[in-house]
Amino acid sequence: MSIQVFGMPVSRGVAIGRAVLVASSRVDVAHYFIAADRVEHEIERLRGARNAVAAELEALKLELPSEAPHELAALLDVHLMLLHDESLTGATKLWISERHYNAEWALSAQLEVLARQFDEMDDVYLRERKADVEQVVERLLRVLAGADAVHLIPPAVQPARDFAGEDPLVLVANDVAPADMMQFKRSVFTGFVTDVGGRTSHTAIVARSMDIPAVVGAREASRLIRQDDWVVIDGDAGVVIVNPSSIVLEEYRFKQRQSELERARLDRLRHTPAVTLDGQAVELLANIELPGDAAGALEAGAVGVGLFRSEFLFMNRGGDLPGEDEQFEAYRDAVLALQGLPVTIRTVDIGADKPLERTSPQELRHEHGLNPALGLRAIRWSLAEPGMFRQQLRAILRASAYGKVRILIPMVAQLGEVKLVFEALARARQQLDDAGRAYTPVEVGAMIEVPAAAVVIDRFLRHFDFVSVGTNDLIQYTLAIDRADEAVAHLYDPWHPAVLQLLHRTISSANALGRGVSVCGEMAGDAAFTELLLAMGLRSFSMHPARISAIKQRVLRADTRLLEAVMPQVLDSDAPAELMRLVAAGRTAH
Ligand code: PEP
Ligand code: MG
Repeated sequence: MSIQVFGMPVSRGVAIGRAVLVASSRVDVAHYFIAADRVEHEIERLRGARNAVAAELEALKLELPSEAPHELAALLDVHLMLLHDESLTGATKLWISERHYNAEWALSAQLEVLARQFDEMDDVYLRERKADVEQVVERLLRVLAGADAVHLIPPAVQPARDFAGEDPLVLVANDVAPADMMQFKRSVFTGFVTDVGGRTSHTAIVARSMDIPAVVGAREASRLIRQDDWVVIDGDAGVVIVNPSSIVLEEYRFKQRQSELERARLDRLRHTPAVTLDGQAVELLANIELPGDAAGALEAGAVGVGLFRSEFLFMNRGGDLPGEDEQFEAYRDAVLALQGLPVTIRTVDIGADKPLERTSPQELRHEHGLNPALGLRAIRWSLAEPGMFRQQLRAILRASAYGKVRILIPMVAQLGEVKLVFEALARARQQLDDAGRAYTPVEVGAMIEVPAAAVVIDRFLRHFDFVSVGTNDLIQYTLAIDRADEAVAHLYDPWHPAVLQLLHRTISSANALGRGVSVCGEMAGDAAFTELLLAMGLRSFSMHPARISAIKQRVLRADTRLLEAVMPQVLDSDAPAELMRLVAAGRTAH
């Protein structure tokens, strides 16, 4: 039967494929694909874990005191039986050999299948056996984690899909931690659906950077969709259709072809300079997450990197953070790939919905009653770890010997933080001098993403060479809505007059003082805001490389004289979005 699930459209286009369910809320494990030549090894890990658990259970049975209730021994027998049952370990092996899932993922996928079968049973006694399967799987996962801890850290490079020839796959999950998303970055998935998340949650951002259709906040999706169901993801409308009829499928295949044609058309603009009708040059920069993204940024026509989210180098390493040399090499690689164009490296923005480990913000809230978005995040975290911070600064400074590097400090809110940042920089430079390491002068900028900084922007501009507005967080903090929480996602409104005022204030103050100003939040890559930002005086936008051509098209058709003239009315309007749309439409006719 065909069903529809509604969520938020976060990455455009249409994806059609078979569902792969991951990251069930039941068990939290790493998900990654293994290379074809690792299949046997992975099955061996599973076999080893099964034998270890069997030994554990046998030992428990032997140790049972004679007065223990008879049910306990019977329960251990049930667990042993389940452990050797083909429907558990046999089927799990298939997920490994046919889909190339890692053993933990294969186990959790099979648990999901079995759990559903148990849920559908009429017999209460049998239904309750689900808990036993869960316990056995948990034991297996514990052994896998302990016996081969390195597998907690997924491989750095996603193996290519070498089980080609199958149907396209789409990923369906309750939630995917940003670090897991990175694992899927160069993967086989042609679309994403998650139950939770908002338009600018980091999971959505990574999906967008992969330029594949995605819907988040689809609430029940991972419960309603089953492994291998056919799924259509409409990333424009925010709709997911499960097991569509052939007519619907045909309609979507048509839509898919249309959007591919549109992409190909836009692609031709890649190397056209971004200049408005009235001759204003506009800088279109790229947001990247890993050094490997840098080459793609250049190919997409970016004239530099406006935001390198360095925190992705720090995630999911089991507490083993990258050292100075490892970081230096990553930054240097990005700088070399940009061939002399600027690379803006943001110091780590760890915390909130980008934890170091695979914990979701939901878990943090539930387990600790905390609001991580207002906690020890970004520059606050770096200043609380001064040794680590200086290490990162040294690594970035060393990369400056290979090209044009700029340093960007996230989430600055206090002037006291500014002082500490510059002290740390001075010490990092001193340490490099002492060690005889080369570096060149770098510009230092602040991310404006806390309303407090935008309100007193002039004070901050005294200290920094440039600012970059992180609209994702600026909107979250101005409107007091958690960007990762789908329950308040409908309140996420970039057109809110308070947001517009803060943005306008920041851009015009920076322009007046002759400081560089850019926007690197998702607004910069959304064509609905291009005219608005140009009208505010913005001439530097940083976005996912995949968005550059579409934004360039808007820039090429814009006349900043006409746009700037309407800015006072837009700021004063109760319906700024409509007003701006009218202006943009008039301009198109012009
Ligand atoms: C932002 O907040 O707009 C931003 C670009 O930073 P991030 O999305 O990584 O928090
Ligand atoms: Mg931010």
